[in-house]
Amino acid sequence: MSAPAVTASPRTHEDKLNRLAEVAVRVGLGLQAGQELLMTASLDALPLARRITEQAYRAGASLVTTLFSDDEATLMRYHFAPDESFDRAANWLYDGMAAAFKSGAARLAIAGGNPALLANEDPAKVSRANRAVSQAYRPALELITRHSINWTIVASATPAWAASVFPNDAPDAALAKLWDAIFETTRIDGDDPVAAWKAHDAGLHKRAERLNEKRYAALQYRGPGTDFRLGLADDHLWLGGGTTAGNGLYCIPNMPTEEVFTTPHKDRADGTVTATKPLSHQGTMIEGIQVRFENGRIVEARASRGQEVLQKLIDTDEGARHLGEVALVPHSSPIAASGMIFLNTLFDENAASHIALGQSYCSCLRDGDKLTPEQLAAKGANDSLIHVDWMIGSGNLDIDGITATDVAEPLMRQGEWV
Ligand code: ZN
Ligand code: ZN
Repeated sequence: MSAPAVTASPRTHEDKLNRLAEVAVRVGLGLQAGQELLMTASLDALPLARRITEQAYRAGASLVTTLFSDDEATLMRYHFAPDESFDRAANWLYDGMAAAFKSGAARLAIAGGNPALLANEDPAKVSRANRAVSQAYRPALELITRHSINWTIVASATPAWAASVFPNDAPDAALAKLWDAIFETTRIDGDDPVAAWKAHDAGLHKRAERLNEKRYAALQYRGPGTDFRLGLADDHLWLGGGTTAGNGLYCIPNMPTEEVFTTPHKDRADGTVTATKPLSHQGTMIEGIQVRFENGRIVEARASRGQEVLQKLIDTDEGARHLGEVALVPHSSPIAASGMIFLNTLFDENAASHIALGQSYCSCLRDGDKLTPEQLAAKGANDSLIHVDWMIGSGNLDIDGITATDVAEPLMRQGEWV
């Protein structure tokens, strides 16, 4: 039993929204006075986008520009546009984003779209549209994945997302529950969110340092449906929490973040891996993924739902069949402990150990930002238009670190750090 609190009245939703915006701008983005900010958001995330705009100007932003998207408009394209529409992307817009980053703008994305928006649309059209955007976005995305600029992603609850996560609740109740979950897992609820984030960030750095001292050559995974050995890239670096971007500004790219992650060797994955959570990818759902690797390449891929989407995804290019990221997350992370499946990668990837198909982060290699594409490939870094995380961790997963002399050391048991 606990005594009733005699403190001030509980914080209102507006207070929490403001705190989330402040933490996103000051801790996540590390926005510098005088810096421009380029934000992307869905119209459904307008209240948070406005709070972030206010906080960015209070932090000294010289100009905040937000690109809004609209789910209804996206669907209209699938329903009414001519076929050739699906090979097009707004190249001028993505070129403009790259130009903004090159001239010093910071990047903030608000996540929270409808996880099933495109679930009933033609997978071939979805895949063509994604491919066109990936190609157009590539120059801008490279500045992000290379950490040339400070960037972060935060989430806003939206009615459609809340309805997917809490299908049995009334719309208002579902939205309130999703906001609560976001505030809690994004560490906004405590008395001093900024201090809480600094402590959490330091913990992730310490974990990454320990793994870097070990210099494992590979990881061995064992769990239900999973028997998998994954080689790590030569000169790989484990990262976690915040990072100093090429422009010298310190940012924490994902809020929440619970992972330590590095670059696997693109040609050194062997065995079978089974997903432990459904994957919501660009408005489509893929469930029950099971994949077999040989010499780093997917040679067999199955899904109990969304098989065609999965197939199209790994057919994007050769790099889409190889891995670009490996991340470790304890099963007791606050997001896993919530027991929720968020149907959103920002949250679900921080609830479980995961691997990602496609593009690797060169920041996860020693001096990676100074290497040419050929040098990166020689070390085992993967190259692709896609980067898709999928969750393989659970309370039943054991992971060993394999040393350079082929000795196995227990790293995680039953999903927890040893
Ligand atoms: Zn990750
Ligand atoms: Zn990832």
